Amino acid sequence: MKATFTLIVGAGPVGLVLAWRLARAGHAVRVFERAPRLEPMLRSSTFHPPTLDLLDEDGIGAALHAAGRKTPTWQIRLHETGERAEFDLAAIADSTRHPWRLQCDQSVLVNTLEGWLSRHAPGSVVRGAAVEAVGQDSNGAWLRWRDPDAGEHLEHGDFLVGCDGSRSVVREAIGAVFSGTVYPETTVLVTTTFPFEDHLPGLSGINYVWAPDGTYSLLRLADVWRVSLHPHDGESAETLMAPERVAERLAQITPAAATAQVGEVRPYRVHQRLASHWVQGRIAIAGDAAHLNHPKGGMGMNGGIHDVFELADSLLEIAAGGDAQALLARYQARRLPVMRDDVIGQADGNRARMWEASLEGRRRMLATLQAVAADPIKCHAHLIKTSMIDGLRRSKMLA
Ligand SMILES: Cc1cc2nc3c(=O)[nH]c(=O)nc-3n(C[C@H](O)[C@H](O)[C@H](O)COP(=O)(O)OP(=O)(O)OC[C@H]3O[C@@H](n4cnc5c(N)ncnc54)[C@H](O)[C@@H]3O)c2cc1C
Repeated sequence: MKATFTLIVGAGPVGLVLAWRLARAGHAVRVFERAPRLEPMLRSSTFHPPTLDLLDEDGIGAALHAAGRKTPTWQIRLHETGERAEFDLAAIADSTRHPWRLQCDQSVLVNTLEGWLSRHAPGSVVRGAAVEAVGQDSNGAWLRWRDPDAGEHLEHGDFLVGCDGSRSVVREAIGAVFSGTVYPETTVLVTTTFPFEDHLPGLSGINYVWAPDGTYSLLRLADVWRVSLHPHDGESAETLMAPERVAERLAQITPAAATAQVGEVRPYRVHQRLASHWVQGRIAIAGDAAHLNHPKGGMGMNGGIHDVFELADSLLEIAAGGDAQALLARYQARRLPVMRDDVIGQADGNRARMWEASLEGRRRMLATLQAVAADPIKCHAHLIKTSMIDGLRRSKMLA
């Protein structure tokens, strides 16, 4: 085996998982991260069963479980009546060692991996390093980065991977087009310690709810609920974010929540995009740099983690003497179609379902989902797909 040196841009969950996989196999890595420290982000909270299976080494999964909440069931619900279709992940215990979703902020994964890398590969994560340019020649790849005092540095490696998120400089450098759309609605994410579970009978830890005037969701983490709200017609996100308006909207979920202690209130818009290609020579992209999907169903970070497990396998096979061009092409051939068809498509469908406005349409969808949940064979297939196990299995058969 030839030891390789991989340069990684971005210390988000995806870049750090890649660094961990390569470092634990004895390869040199260096991760360049613009942010001097990890800022709280209120982004991913759902880890799907196969992702938990993959992360179950070196104490990484244990750290996530210590900080998160095991969530075996999830549901789609009609606000007015509390009628629901509930799915229990115990149904797929034959296909995963973790038949539950883990609700845990993605910052826990970032911190845990950074801690592991600092112990096992000291100096491999460089914070305050803004990568400005990347390139390659026949021998390797390089990047130029700037430190917080404006000093410029150059670094060479064998391969370079852009895990630098939605505005990726690496994606731009390899000339990939990031086509797609931005969804029209703004979401306002609110955290609160209010015990919704004591007021809404039969609530799961993950609840997507049809409300009379739109939709909201309730996700329970270890110590807070995350509530996703949307402005009503003609209302701006800024108006909805005012404390009195947040209180009114929480009270519409259940009256006692009018006096809930509210923690954070954050707006966000969502894009759906896919990079035209993920590899050029010795440079690849992964995670949000390569694809963006609607967060309904909690699949973006999970998909990015699945990307870099596949990419790490390719890089390790190259180090063992495999053909670099063919193995990096295999990475793209396995992951791009799965992200396009399984993840972006499924997330788009999840969003569309929750924006169904008519009661008749909602009741029809609810009845279909209830029938699926009640049928062991259909339920198993549905959960294998929505838990991303199907996509992971399919990717292995693609090239
Ligand atoms: C509200 C919300 C909820 C979500 N919920 C879920 C969920 O439940 N489950 C799920 O799977 N996904 C979810 N997602 C998506 C998930 O957050 C992202 O898919 C995930 O963060 C992508 O990880 P990443 O490492 O690819 O990119 P990022 O997390 O964006 O990390 C990229 C890193 O690169 C750094 N960087 C960027 N440019 C440079 C540069 N030039 N030089 C150096 N560093 C740079 C950035 O500072 C950043 O740290 C959610 C997203 C949102 C907005």
